[in-house]
Amino acid sequence: MLILQNESFYYKSNELYCEEIPVGVLAKQFGTPLFVYSRSFFERQFNNFNKAFEGIKRKIFFAAKSNFNINVIKLFHNLGAGIDVNSAGELYRALKAGVNPSDIIFSGVGKTEEEIVLALKKKIKLLKAESAEEIFLINEISKSLGTVADIALRVNPDVDAKTHPYISTGLKTNKFGIDSKDAKRLFLEAAKLENLRVVGIDMHIGSQITSVEAYKNAVEKLAELYRELKDKGIPIKHFDVGGGMGVKYKDEEPLNIEKLAQILIPIFKKFDVEIFFEPGRYLTANGGILVTKILYAKKNGEKNFIVVDAAMTELLRPSLYKAYHNIQPLKLNNNKEITADVVGGVCESGDYFAKDRKLTKTTPGEYLAILGAGAYGMTMSSNYNGRRRPPEILVQGNQPIVIRGRETFEHLLYDEEIKI
Ligand SMILES: *Cc1c(COP(=O)(O)O)cnc(C)c1O
Repeated sequence: MLILQNESFYYKSNELYCEEIPVGVLAKQFGTPLFVYSRSFFERQFNNFNKAFEGIKRKIFFAAKSNFNINVIKLFHNLGAGIDVNSAGELYRALKAGVNPSDIIFSGVGKTEEEIVLALKKKIKLLKAESAEEIFLINEISKSLGTVADIALRVNPDVDAKTHPYISTGLKTNKFGIDSKDAKRLFLEAAKLENLRVVGIDMHIGSQITSVEAYKNAVEKLAELYRELKDKGIPIKHFDVGGGMGVKYKDEEPLNIEKLAQILIPIFKKFDVEIFFEPGRYLTANGGILVTKILYAKKNGEKNFIVVDAAMTELLRPSLYKAYHNIQPLKLNNNKEITADVVGGVCESGDYFAKDRKLTKTTPGEYLAILGAGAYGMTMSSNYNGRRRPPEILVQGNQPIVIRGRETFEHLLYDEEIKI
């Protein structure tokens, strides 16, 4: 059985800890399912990333869609991060977290008029446009508000990020960004519009990318475009590399951030621009676990099933992408191993966390930790099957902070009442 540990989630006397607290204590105190995050992990990841790019003008925008709890947003903002939002809802969260609008950038292939109006009224740093139509729409809205909007254009560099097709975004067959062939023409057209200032060039080639080469290829492609635009007198101020930096979920080599910096810094040193990054998963994934209790251990024919009290409603990634999440017990024991499917209680065959996984034999009532749940866990959660979302606990040394409570039945009916 694969056991993963890091400086923040580790075993001591065969018991899983988060920082200075045994996770089992949290499970008993707050119940399960339960998200547990480590503050020190988040801080270490951010600081390592930031330090790797020392020597160039840079700003890291935390991609809030990976973990949008307002405390997590605030934590990264306090460390110096800006925030990358993908919707009016995430913008609302970032503002509630106390983020300066001038530290917020807005991504997304399908921004609505309402979202553009809100972003411009709040005076965020910039909007990233992903199509000709969107460029014109932002210009129109900006004009009607009597302002000049700062925008960046997201260019699709058409490189293969060699990641899962569901999370690859930088191929020309993906819906994202502006085709690289049209990019120069659109930059020049956008620059002529009166209520726009084209200040940035932007890319985001996918997620869970472990190859430094993919970034190099894409950045080199856009660097060429950058030089052409500079020659045409377009005052590009920001070059945004996007996010997607991959982490370790199993036995893969995670993206080596120092190596990425080694390759990118020499390219960027020649530019007179500020470099933006938008990591989400890299900062949060392995800083969180989903703790769940074993309800039943059953056998259907030859197959073992471990039924737990968490489900696809808390962590959708296995169902959505067949993503691998390591699962390990809170208490290591010397029991023999079994091979089992770990499944939730939702009425869907796709509701599972692991298939044919080797685990140490555990019994109902014991707890499991599902690792790598700090990113795209809670933010993808739902109320399907009438399930209430779990709490989120941020551990800070020996102190657990409830940064979101468990949903109640009242939450489920918050905006619904009998009308007939
Ligand atoms: C999702 C997303 C990110 C963050 O991706 P990670 O894989 O979590 O780093 C950054 N930028 C954009 C535009 C995104 O859509």
